[in-house]
Amino acid sequence: MAYESVRGMRDILPDEADYWTRLEATIRKIARRFNYREIRPPLVEHTELFSRGIGAATDVVNKEMYTFPDKKGRSLTLRPEATASVVRAYVEHGMTTQDPFQKLYYIGPMFRYEKPQKGRSRQFHQYGVEAIGSLDPSLDVEVISLAWSLMHELGLGGLSLRLNSIGCAADHERYREALRAHFAPHIGSMCEDCQRRYDDNPLRILDCKNKICQPYIADAPGSTEHLCDDCADHFERVKELLDQLGLDYVVDPHLVRGLDYYTRTVFELTSKDLGAQDALLGGGRYDDLVKMIGGPDTPGVGFAGGMERLILVLKEREEQVMEHRIDLFLVTLGDAGRTLALDLSNGLRGEGLSVDLDYRGRSFRKQMTQANKLSARYLLVLGDDEATSKKGKLKEMDSGEETEVALSAEEIMRKIEPLSD
Ligand code: AMP
Repeated sequence: MAYESVRGMRDILPDEADYWTRLEATIRKIARRFNYREIRPPLVEHTELFSRGIGAATDVVNKEMYTFPDKKGRSLTLRPEATASVVRAYVEHGMTTQDPFQKLYYIGPMFRYEKPQKGRSRQFHQYGVEAIGSLDPSLDVEVISLAWSLMHELGLGGLSLRLNSIGCAADHERYREALRAHFAPHIGSMCEDCQRRYDDNPLRILDCKNKICQPYIADAPGSTEHLCDDCADHFERVKELLDQLGLDYVVDPHLVRGLDYYTRTVFELTSKDLGAQDALLGGGRYDDLVKMIGGPDTPGVGFAGGMERLILVLKEREEQVMEHRIDLFLVTLGDAGRTLALDLSNGLRGEGLSVDLDYRGRSFRKQMTQANKLSARYLLVLGDDEATSKKGKLKEMDSGEETEVALSAEEIMRKIEPLSD
């Protein structure tokens, strides 16, 4: 029986992996510009971290988690997102006292049991930033501006930023009551999920995608009508600062985001370049999460973005597969040539050159074909003559130009500038 990968979990093959490497490098570059440092939490956490942190009433926790018992019967979960893990690490490693203000970023796979479709899979990848330890609205704006800079760097157009404030825990309570009052006359006609959400957390009704619920959602009250003075001031300041930076946004009073930990600012960035699954990234403040996870009362703000969608756009934009080149291919003829090639390749690789040679006993012609396929920049034929004279002809493939070279790693390095790593 031939095995297949698990549904919704894809292999990233070498041609595509080149795009991933480049995307990751760009994310790291922009994170560095804003002084965010990388954190790499594990992929598996105690289930309770997510059920408490993200919220038991959310779709992510309710329907989408890969949860399993370990051999001792403890319930573990493959992380569906990374904010809860980052905050757990922040608390666990005593950052709360050592250096409570932290700007962190991560890149890695997440797991959600969703219906796989274009740009949506069960193992998918997110990058994200978390700025923990300040209530300053300028930090909300820094995080948004980082997201914007990244999209700009990647050349993504047609961006639009949806923004809202859902206020603090006390505001949520008032807003929930207002939503219950609004939905009460209609709830019997709404979907089963919404009927459950009505009791658990009516904010989640606003995320419902079911057609039958949309007319009731459309005229629901907005969250900004229920903000306390502090939260309203915070939101005003965020908008002022965005205006100052020239970052356009649209306030969407129904934007609540699918996870329970959000407070105050929430936002989503979409791109016209993306098509149906147009959400590039989403985030917001989570001023109660550190405390919920067992740390001191510490605010935070961040976002997470999907990488599969960015890769789709990057791939579509470049018609050709990204070129994979090596510096030098050594064509070998006979045992002496091969011994010399093994020796030289070892030395040259040590000097930073990417070098390859044949390992399948192929003919001269087939080795030449292989060199072309690998887009080798230079070629060197090594046979008995070369092994004896310790001299060879280095051919630059693009120009066809040949130069004589003494066959030592040192001499060859004088002729070839390595491609940057
Ligand atoms: P969330 O963590 O749900 O706020 O999602 C943040 C971003 O991650 C979304 O805007 C998407 O770009 C991406 N994303 C979420 N779920 C998936 C998935 N199943 N497959 C691919 N990308 C996803």
